[in-house]
Amino acid sequence: MTNNVRHVLGISGGKDSAALAIYLTDKYPQLDIEYYFCDTGKELDETYMLIQNLEIYFGKTIIRLEAAQNSHEPPFDHFLKIYGGYLPSSTARWCTKKLKLEPFEKWVGNDPVISYVGIRGDEDREGYISKKINIQSIFPFRKNMWSEDVISKILRNENIQLLVQLYEKHIDNVKLKRILEIVNEPLSSKFHQLNKLNALLDASVMAFNQIVFDFLKNTDYPLSKSETFPLLDNEDLLGRDDIFRILKDSGVGVPKYYEPIVFDIDGNKGQYCRSRSGCYFCFFQQNIEWIWLYEQHPDKFKLAMEYEKDGYTWMQDESLEDLIQPERISQVKDEYLKRTARTTNKKSSYLLDILENAEEEGCTACFI
Ligand code: SF4
Repeated sequence: MTNNVRHVLGISGGKDSAALAIYLTDKYPQLDIEYYFCDTGKELDETYMLIQNLEIYFGKTIIRLEAAQNSHEPPFDHFLKIYGGYLPSSTARWCTKKLKLEPFEKWVGNDPVISYVGIRGDEDREGYISKKINIQSIFPFRKNMWSEDVISKILRNENIQLLVQLYEKHIDNVKLKRILEIVNEPLSSKFHQLNKLNALLDASVMAFNQIVFDFLKNTDYPLSKSETFPLLDNEDLLGRDDIFRILKDSGVGVPKYYEPIVFDIDGNKGQYCRSRSGCYFCFFQQNIEWIWLYEQHPDKFKLAMEYEKDGYTWMQDESLEDLIQPERISQVKDEYLKRTARTTNKKSSYLLDILENAEEEGCTACFI
Protein backbone atom coordinates (compact mmCIF):
# COMPACT_ATOMS: atom_id res chain seq x y z
CA MET A 1 0.00 0.00 0.00
CA THR A 2 1.44 3.42 -0.81
CA ASN A 3 1.64 5.73 2.13
CA ASN A 4 0.43 8.94 0.59
CA VAL A 5 -3.21 7.77 0.53
CA ARG A 6 -4.96 8.66 3.76
CA HIS A 7 -7.63 6.45 5.28
CA VAL A 8 -10.23 8.32 7.33
CA LEU A 9 -13.46 7.50 9.14
CA GLY A 10 -15.90 10.03 10.57
CA ILE A 11 -17.42 9.14 13.92
CA SER A 12 -20.83 10.83 14.01
CA GLY A 13 -21.84 9.67 17.48
CA GLY A 14 -24.23 7.15 15.94
CA LYS A 15 -24.05 3.39 16.25
CA ASP A 16 -23.11 2.53 12.65
CA SER A 17 -19.98 4.66 12.31
CA ALA A 18 -18.82 3.52 15.76
CA ALA A 19 -19.35 -0.13 14.83
CA LEU A 20 -17.56 0.37 11.51
CA ALA A 21 -14.55 1.85 13.28
CA ILE A 22 -14.38 -1.15 15.62
CA TYR A 23 -14.92 -3.60 12.75
CA LEU A 24 -12.14 -2.12 10.60
CA THR A 25 -9.72 -1.81 13.52
CA ASP A 26 -10.23 -5.48 14.38
CA LYS A 27 -10.40 -6.94 10.89
CA TYR A 28 -7.89 -4.75 9.04
CA PRO A 29 -5.33 -3.62 11.63
CA GLN A 30 -2.86 -2.92 8.82
CA LEU A 31 -4.97 0.09 7.75
CA ASP A 32 -3.75 3.23 9.46
CA ILE A 33 -7.13 4.91 9.84
CA GLU A 34 -7.50 8.46 11.10
CA TYR A 35 -10.73 8.77 13.08
CA TYR A 36 -12.36 12.18 13.29
CA PHE A 37 -15.42 13.75 14.86
CA CYS A 38 -16.99 17.03 13.70
CA ASP A 39 -18.06 18.67 16.92
CA THR A 40 -20.97 21.11 16.60
CA GLY A 41 -20.74 21.86 20.30
CA LYS A 42 -24.41 20.81 20.56
CA GLU A 43 -24.28 17.04 20.90
CA LEU A 44 -25.82 14.98 23.67
CA ASP A 45 -23.57 13.89 26.54
CA GLU A 46 -24.04 10.28 25.37
CA THR A 47 -22.23 11.15 22.14
CA TYR A 48 -19.20 12.52 23.96
CA MET A 49 -19.24 9.38 26.15
CA LEU A 50 -19.20 7.18 23.05
CA ILE A 51 -16.23 9.09 21.65
CA GLN A 52 -14.35 8.57 24.92
CA ASN A 53 -15.14 4.83 24.96
CA LEU A 54 -13.93 4.48 21.39
CA GLU A 55 -10.69 6.28 22.18
CA ILE A 56 -10.07 3.82 25.00
CA TYR A 57 -10.81 0.91 22.65
CA PHE A 58 -8.52 2.18 19.86
CA GLY A 59 -5.84 3.44 22.21
CA LYS A 60 -5.65 6.60 20.15
CA THR A 61 -7.26 9.99 19.92
CA ILE A 62 -10.23 10.74 17.71
CA ILE A 63 -9.42 14.00 15.99
CA ARG A 64 -11.89 16.81 16.80
CA LEU A 65 -12.75 18.97 13.81
CA GLU A 66 -14.40 22.25 14.67
CA ALA A 67 -15.73 24.88 12.34
CA ALA A 68 -14.99 28.52 13.19
CA GLN A 69 -12.10 27.58 15.45
CA ASN A 70 -11.18 31.16 16.24
CA SER A 71 -14.67 32.08 17.39
CA HIS A 72 -15.39 32.50 21.10
CA GLU A 73 -18.75 30.78 20.55
CA PRO A 74 -19.62 27.13 19.88
CA PRO A 75 -19.54 26.46 16.12
CA PHE A 76 -23.33 26.22 15.74
CA ASP A 77 -23.93 29.52 17.54
CA HIS A 78 -21.23 31.24 15.54
CA PHE A 79 -22.88 30.35 12.23
CA LEU A 80 -26.42 30.95 13.49
CA LYS A 81 -25.41 34.55 14.05
CA ILE A 82 -23.97 34.77 10.53
CA TYR A 83 -27.25 33.38 9.17
CA GLY A 84 -29.18 36.06 11.06
CA GLY A 85 -30.86 33.66 13.50
CA TYR A 86 -32.33 31.61 10.65
CA LEU A 87 -32.61 28.10 12.10
CA PRO A 88 -31.53 25.31 9.76
CA SER A 89 -34.17 22.97 8.36
CA SER A 90 -34.34 19.98 6.04
CA THR A 91 -34.63 22.38 3.11
CA ALA A 92 -32.01 24.87 4.35
CA ARG A 93 -29.41 22.67 5.94
CA TRP A 94 -26.59 25.13 6.36
CA CYS A 95 -25.54 23.39 9.58
CA THR A 96 -24.33 20.18 7.91
CA LYS A 97 -22.44 22.14 5.29
CA LYS A 98 -20.78 24.59 7.68
CA LEU A 99 -20.25 22.37 10.72
CA LYS A 100 -19.48 18.98 9.17
CA LEU A 101 -18.65 18.97 5.47
CA GLU A 102 -16.51 22.10 5.21
CA PRO A 103 -14.30 21.32 8.26
CA PHE A 104 -13.82 17.78 6.91
CA GLU A 105 -12.87 18.91 3.43
CA LYS A 106 -10.53 21.55 4.86
CA TRP A 107 -8.87 18.94 7.07
CA VAL A 108 -8.15 16.52 4.22
CA GLY A 109 -7.08 19.30 1.86
CA ASN A 110 -5.87 17.91 -1.45
CA ASP A 111 -4.55 14.63 -0.08
CA PRO A 112 -5.88 11.49 -1.73
CA VAL A 113 -8.29 10.08 0.84
CA ILE A 114 -10.29 6.89 1.30
CA SER A 115 -13.28 7.71 3.47
CA TYR A 116 -15.02 4.74 5.11
CA VAL A 117 -18.78 5.13 5.56
CA GLY A 118 -20.99 2.98 7.80
CA ILE A 119 -24.08 2.57 5.62
CA ARG A 120 -25.31 -0.91 6.50
CA GLY A 121 -25.95 -3.83 4.19
CA ASP A 122 -29.66 -3.75 5.12
CA GLU A 123 -30.12 -0.11 4.11
CA ASP A 124 -31.14 1.22 0.75
CA ARG A 125 -29.41 4.57 0.55
CA GLU A 126 -26.24 6.14 -0.69
CA GLY A 127 -23.84 7.89 1.64
CA TYR A 128 -22.21 11.26 1.29
CA ILE A 129 -20.07 11.35 -1.82
CA SER A 130 -17.72 14.28 -1.89
CA LYS A 131 -17.63 16.44 -4.98
CA LYS A 132 -13.87 16.56 -4.47
CA ILE A 133 -12.18 13.97 -6.67
CA ASN A 134 -9.48 13.36 -4.02
CA ILE A 135 -12.03 11.90 -1.57
CA GLN A 136 -13.31 8.41 -2.35
CA SER A 137 -16.04 6.78 -0.26
CA ILE A 138 -15.99 3.07 0.57
CA PHE A 139 -18.90 1.23 2.24
CA PRO A 140 -17.48 -1.89 3.94
CA PHE A 141 -20.78 -3.09 5.46
CA ARG A 142 -22.44 -3.46 2.06
CA LYS A 143 -22.08 -6.23 -0.44
CA ASN A 144 -21.27 -3.48 -2.93
CA MET A 145 -18.62 -1.42 -1.16
CA TRP A 146 -18.14 1.00 -4.06
CA SER A 147 -19.85 4.35 -4.48
CA GLU A 148 -22.48 5.00 -7.10
CA ASP A 149 -20.21 7.19 -9.23
CA VAL A 150 -17.62 4.40 -9.51
CA ILE A 151 -20.25 1.82 -10.42
CA SER A 152 -21.87 3.97 -13.09
CA LYS A 153 -18.47 4.55 -14.71
CA ILE A 154 -17.33 0.95 -14.70
CA LEU A 155 -20.59 -0.55 -15.94
CA ARG A 156 -20.93 1.70 -18.98
CA ASN A 157 -21.52 -0.32 -22.13
CA GLU A 158 -18.37 1.12 -23.69
CA ASN A 159 -16.35 -0.68 -20.98
CA ILE A 160 -17.65 -4.18 -21.75
CA GLN A 161 -14.50 -5.31 -23.55
CA LEU A 162 -12.28 -3.92 -20.84
CA LEU A 163 -14.27 -5.77 -18.16
CA VAL A 164 -14.01 -9.00 -20.15
CA GLN A 165 -10.21 -8.61 -20.17
CA LEU A 166 -10.06 -7.80 -16.47
CA TYR A 167 -12.23 -10.78 -15.52
CA GLU A 168 -10.22 -13.10 -17.76
CA LYS A 169 -7.12 -11.94 -15.93
CA HIS A 170 -8.50 -12.78 -12.52
CA ILE A 171 -10.90 -15.70 -12.99
CA ASP A 172 -9.86 -18.97 -14.53
CA ASN A 173 -12.46 -21.26 -13.08
CA VAL A 174 -15.93 -22.45 -13.90
CA LYS A 175 -17.44 -19.14 -12.84
CA LEU A 176 -15.85 -17.29 -15.73
CA LYS A 177 -18.35 -18.45 -18.37
CA ARG A 178 -21.33 -17.24 -16.34
CA ILE A 179 -19.61 -13.98 -15.41
CA LEU A 180 -18.74 -13.20 -19.02
CA GLU A 181 -22.36 -13.77 -20.03
CA ILE A 182 -23.35 -11.09 -17.51
CA VAL A 183 -20.55 -8.74 -18.54
CA ASN A 184 -21.40 -9.08 -22.24
CA GLU A 185 -25.06 -8.24 -21.75
CA PRO A 186 -25.31 -4.48 -22.39
CA LEU A 187 -27.33 -2.20 -20.17
CA SER A 188 -30.77 -1.57 -21.62
CA SER A 189 -34.30 -0.68 -20.61
CA LYS A 190 -34.69 -4.31 -19.51
CA PHE A 191 -31.28 -4.79 -17.94
CA HIS A 192 -30.50 -1.88 -15.68
CA GLN A 193 -27.24 -0.98 -13.99
CA LEU A 194 -28.50 -2.38 -10.67
CA ASN A 195 -29.45 -5.70 -12.32
CA LYS A 196 -25.97 -6.03 -13.77
CA LEU A 197 -24.27 -4.99 -10.56
CA ASN A 198 -26.23 -7.49 -8.46
CA ALA A 199 -25.66 -10.30 -10.96
CA LEU A 200 -21.90 -9.68 -10.91
CA LEU A 201 -21.81 -9.47 -7.12
CA ASP A 202 -23.87 -12.65 -6.81
CA ALA A 203 -21.38 -14.40 -9.07
CA SER A 204 -18.37 -13.33 -7.01
CA VAL A 205 -17.93 -10.32 -4.73
CA MET A 206 -14.18 -10.77 -4.52
CA ALA A 207 -13.72 -10.97 -8.28
CA PHE A 208 -15.88 -7.88 -8.77
CA ASN A 209 -13.86 -5.96 -6.17
CA GLN A 210 -10.66 -6.95 -7.90
CA ILE A 211 -11.76 -5.79 -11.34
CA VAL A 212 -13.05 -2.48 -9.93
CA PHE A 213 -9.69 -1.98 -8.23
CA ASP A 214 -7.90 -2.69 -11.53
CA PHE A 215 -10.26 -0.41 -13.43
CA LEU A 216 -9.56 2.44 -10.99
CA LYS A 217 -5.84 2.26 -11.74
CA ASN A 218 -6.44 4.27 -14.90
CA THR A 219 -8.49 6.94 -13.16
CA ASP A 220 -7.80 9.82 -10.75
CA TYR A 221 -9.54 8.11 -7.83
CA PRO A 222 -7.41 7.89 -4.67
CA LEU A 223 -7.33 4.09 -4.84
CA SER A 224 -5.46 4.34 -8.15
CA LYS A 225 -2.46 5.38 -6.05
CA SER A 226 -2.53 2.24 -3.91
CA GLU A 227 -0.80 -0.94 -4.96
CA THR A 228 -3.08 -3.10 -2.83
CA PHE A 229 -6.28 -2.70 -0.87
CA PRO A 230 -7.04 -5.18 1.90
CA LEU A 231 -10.82 -4.83 1.62
CA LEU A 232 -10.83 -6.47 -1.81
CA ASP A 233 -11.37 -9.79 -0.05
CA ASN A 234 -14.28 -8.51 2.00
CA GLU A 235 -17.52 -10.39 1.35
CA ASP A 236 -19.27 -9.42 4.58
CA LEU A 237 -22.73 -7.91 4.61
CA LEU A 238 -23.60 -6.44 7.98
CA GLY A 239 -27.04 -5.39 9.20
CA ARG A 240 -28.49 -3.85 12.32
CA ASP A 241 -28.14 -6.95 14.52
CA ASP A 242 -24.44 -7.13 13.63
CA ILE A 243 -23.96 -3.47 14.54
CA PHE A 244 -25.44 -3.91 18.01
CA ARG A 245 -23.42 -7.11 18.49
CA ILE A 246 -20.14 -5.40 17.52
CA LEU A 247 -20.79 -2.53 19.92
CA LYS A 248 -21.73 -4.82 22.80
CA ASP A 249 -19.00 -7.43 22.27
CA SER A 250 -16.27 -4.80 22.03
CA GLY A 251 -17.24 -3.32 25.39
CA VAL A 252 -17.67 0.12 23.78
CA GLY A 253 -21.41 -0.20 24.26
CA VAL A 254 -24.48 1.10 22.49
CA PRO A 255 -25.07 4.86 22.94
CA LYS A 256 -27.54 5.24 25.76
CA TYR A 257 -30.06 7.28 23.80
CA TYR A 258 -30.97 4.20 21.74
CA GLU A 259 -32.21 2.42 24.87
CA PRO A 260 -36.01 2.18 24.93
CA ILE A 261 -37.60 3.88 27.93
CA VAL A 262 -41.11 3.01 29.09
CA PHE A 263 -43.73 5.74 29.29
CA ASP A 264 -47.31 5.60 30.42
CA ILE A 265 -50.22 7.34 28.77
CA ASP A 266 -53.71 6.90 30.27
CA GLY A 267 -52.74 3.50 31.61
CA ASN A 268 -51.26 2.34 28.27
CA LYS A 269 -47.58 1.63 28.20
CA GLY A 270 -45.27 2.55 25.35
CA GLN A 271 -41.56 2.87 24.76
CA TYR A 272 -39.58 5.69 23.24
CA CYS A 273 -35.96 6.50 22.53
CA ARG A 274 -33.94 8.70 20.24
CA SER A 275 -33.39 7.22 16.82
CA ARG A 276 -30.13 8.94 15.87
CA SER A 277 -27.11 10.91 16.88
CA GLY A 278 -26.51 14.57 16.10
CA CYS A 279 -27.36 17.88 17.71
CA TYR A 280 -29.89 17.65 20.53
CA PHE A 281 -32.13 20.15 18.73
CA CYS A 282 -31.89 18.50 15.32
CA PHE A 283 -34.91 19.37 13.19
CA PHE A 284 -35.01 15.85 11.77
CA GLN A 285 -36.42 14.63 15.10
CA GLN A 286 -39.93 13.33 15.16
CA ASN A 287 -42.44 14.70 17.67
CA ILE A 288 -42.05 11.70 19.97
CA GLU A 289 -38.28 12.26 20.02
CA TRP A 290 -38.79 15.89 21.03
CA ILE A 291 -41.00 14.63 23.87
CA TRP A 292 -38.25 12.16 24.78
CA LEU A 293 -35.80 15.08 24.92
CA TYR A 294 -38.21 17.13 27.03
CA GLU A 295 -38.73 14.32 29.53
CA GLN A 296 -35.27 12.73 29.56
CA HIS A 297 -33.04 15.78 28.99
CA PRO A 298 -35.13 18.75 30.15
CA ASP A 299 -32.04 20.98 30.34
CA LYS A 300 -31.26 20.37 26.67
CA PHE A 301 -34.90 20.87 25.69
CA LYS A 302 -34.89 24.22 27.46
CA LEU A 303 -31.78 25.22 25.53
CA ALA A 304 -33.47 24.15 22.27
CA MET A 305 -36.45 26.35 23.17
CA GLU A 306 -34.19 29.34 23.66
CA TYR A 307 -33.23 29.19 19.98
CA GLU A 308 -36.85 29.69 18.94
CA LYS A 309 -37.26 33.43 18.61
CA ASP A 310 -38.13 36.11 16.04
CA GLY A 311 -40.63 33.72 14.46
CA TYR A 312 -38.07 30.96 13.84
CA THR A 313 -38.98 27.48 15.10
CA TRP A 314 -37.35 24.06 14.78
CA MET A 315 -40.50 22.52 13.32
CA GLN A 316 -42.40 24.10 10.51
CA ASP A 317 -45.86 24.23 12.04
CA GLU A 318 -45.37 24.18 15.77
CA SER A 319 -43.17 25.74 18.42
CA LEU A 320 -41.56 23.68 21.15
CA GLU A 321 -43.58 25.63 23.69
CA ASP A 322 -46.80 24.45 22.03
CA LEU A 323 -45.51 20.89 21.74
CA ILE A 324 -45.05 20.49 25.50
CA GLN A 325 -48.53 21.53 26.52
CA PRO A 326 -49.89 18.54 28.51
CA GLU A 327 -52.74 17.78 26.11
CA ARG A 328 -50.38 17.98 23.13
CA ILE A 329 -47.87 15.61 24.81
CA SER A 330 -50.69 13.13 25.40
CA GLN A 331 -51.77 13.44 21.79
CA VAL A 332 -48.22 12.84 20.47
CA LYS A 333 -47.76 9.81 22.71
CA ASP A 334 -51.15 8.44 21.80
CA GLU A 335 -50.52 8.80 18.06
CA TYR A 336 -47.13 7.20 18.54
CA LEU A 337 -48.64 4.26 20.42
CA LYS A 338 -51.11 3.70 17.58
CA ARG A 339 -48.28 3.83 15.06
CA THR A 340 -46.29 1.39 17.18
CA ALA A 341 -49.23 -1.01 17.26
CA ARG A 342 -49.53 -0.86 13.47
CA THR A 343 -45.89 -1.90 13.11
CA THR A 344 -45.97 -4.87 15.49
CA ASN A 345 -46.63 -7.19 12.60
CA LYS A 346 -43.55 -6.05 10.79
CA LYS A 347 -40.41 -8.15 10.84
CA SER A 348 -38.21 -5.94 12.99
CA SER A 349 -38.65 -5.60 16.72
CA TYR A 350 -36.32 -2.63 16.99
CA LEU A 351 -37.83 0.55 18.27
CA LEU A 352 -35.66 2.33 15.73
CA ASP A 353 -37.62 0.65 12.98
CA ILE A 354 -40.86 1.66 14.57
CA LEU A 355 -39.71 5.25 14.37
CA GLU A 356 -40.55 4.80 10.72
CA ASN A 357 -38.00 5.94 8.18
CA ALA A 358 -36.15 7.66 10.99
CA GLU A 359 -32.77 6.74 9.68
CA GLU A 360 -33.47 7.09 6.00
CA GLU A 361 -34.13 10.78 6.31
CA GLY A 362 -31.40 13.19 7.04
CA CYS A 363 -27.75 13.30 6.66
CA THR A 364 -25.12 10.60 6.66
CA ALA A 365 -22.57 13.08 7.99
CA CYS A 366 -24.62 13.46 11.18
CA PHE A 367 -26.48 10.23 11.77
CA ILE A 368 -24.51 7.18 10.70
S1 SF4 B 1 -27.46 16.90 13.59
FE1 SF4 B 1 -29.12 18.01 12.61
S2 SF4 B 1 -28.91 20.13 13.40
FE2 SF4 B 1 -26.96 19.09 13.80
S3 SF4 B 1 -25.67 19.55 12.03
FE3 SF4 B 1 -26.69 17.58 11.59
S4 SF4 B 1 -28.56 18.13 10.43
FE4 SF4 B 1 -27.79 20.01 11.46
